[in-house]
Amino acid sequence: MSPLRQSAPHKSIHQTSIQLLGREVAVTIHAMKRKSLRLGVNAKGEIEVKVPLRCPKYELMAFLSQHTGWLEKRLEQFDDSQQAQREKMQHLGKFYRFQQSAQKSRQPILIEDTCYYPQAWSEENLLAKIESWQRLQAKQVFEQLIDQWWPHFAQGALISRPVLRVKKMRSRWGSLSSKGYINLNLKLLELSPNIIEMVVVHELCHSHYFDHSANFYRLMAQKLPGYKAIEIQLRHIEKECAY
Ligand SMILES: [Zn+2]
Repeated sequence: MSPLRQSAPHKSIHQTSIQLLGREVAVTIHAMKRKSLRLGVNAKGEIEVKVPLRCPKYELMAFLSQHTGWLEKRLEQFDDSQQAQREKMQHLGKFYRFQQSAQKSRQPILIEDTCYYPQAWSEENLLAKIESWQRLQAKQVFEQLIDQWWPHFAQGALISRPVLRVKKMRSRWGSLSSKGYINLNLKLLELSPNIIEMVVVHELCHSHYFDHSANFYRLMAQKLPGYKAIEIQLRHIEKECAY
């Protein structure tokens, strides 16, 4: 046996469950080389416990029952934060809480920090309704920016005015295809107008250079001299949120 193999820690994962807040809750047990038991609630709201390799089950169960109060508190906190997520939205860099409108509107109306949504929208499908509304808003906002900026790019471009496609994307804000499509992330609509503009200008620069060459960045700096500061803003936002 190689020395590496000998020194590698043994690990195993098991499942159990306990009663918390009147319901059966799953617990993932990570048995590993360690001396004490350690309890935690992960980012998905799941309970995890790290235990020494030869920890007997009764010891683990006693440990869990000693900590039910703490666990219930953590689970409630988790539910509250999930609920808070559902109760607000971000639009063009500002946060809005949801409130059902007292008037007969067919579209959400944003006033100060409140999004008044139509009476006909039920709470269960609110987020789906909001998303389709955001899609229409995104199309308007993005098309307007493309219309505003395209005249600055048309001359010498490798494509004609790009056709917009609003998409839900995991890892990028936008892209420009050589076939002439500009794909922009629906999530962009949540960000400040100056960031949205910077992303649109970036993608339009690709109509001259499909790479990120020095020429590309020269064009970017020429069209939007303050773009670097806005890029830094965007990088900060990416770090804060798990977009
Ligand atoms: Zn690019």
